[in-house]
Amino acid sequence: MSKINTKITSPLISGNYSQWKKSTLNYVEIFNDKVGHIIDRLDLPKTIELRVRAIPYRMKASGIAYPPECKGGKYIVDVDARQRRRSFFHTLLHELVHVEQFHTDKLIIGDRKIMWKGKLYEQVHDVFSSAYGKQPWEEEANRKAKKLYKFLKA
Ligand SMILES: [Zn+2]
Repeated sequence: MSKINTKITSPLISGNYSQWKKSTLNYVEIFNDKVGHIIDRLDLPKTIELRVRAIPYRMKASGIAYPPECKGGKYIVDVDARQRRRSFFHTLLHELVHVEQFHTDKLIIGDRKIMWKGKLYEQVHDVFSSAYGKQPWEEEANRKAKKLYKFLKA
């Protein structure tokens, strides 16, 4: 059985972003409550560290999934706390699908190229371009996140 360890960074709790504190704690509580249903439906590693934080704007993302080679053998998912409920959960689920893709070697990220199901692709760097969302691993992440969202709905 997989486990997701959640960490909320301190600037959200006591620092600059304390206006997001209430929603952050609420989302994390809902997620922890329902996470079993989500884990059962994805092929995930034994442990994942979920970090809920204010992602620096230069990273141009509302969430990031790190493959284990980036972070000392651990899978880490970052989710920006500064989001409304639906987009917060969509981001979180989307990133968990990327962890599944890394874990099953469906998705391998290289320096310049990306390997998806054994086929090489050029990287699309502009996250705001329509080409970015059309990459097959992004389409899969969006599709599966949409399906899994029913477990987190109010
Ligand atoms: Zn993505």
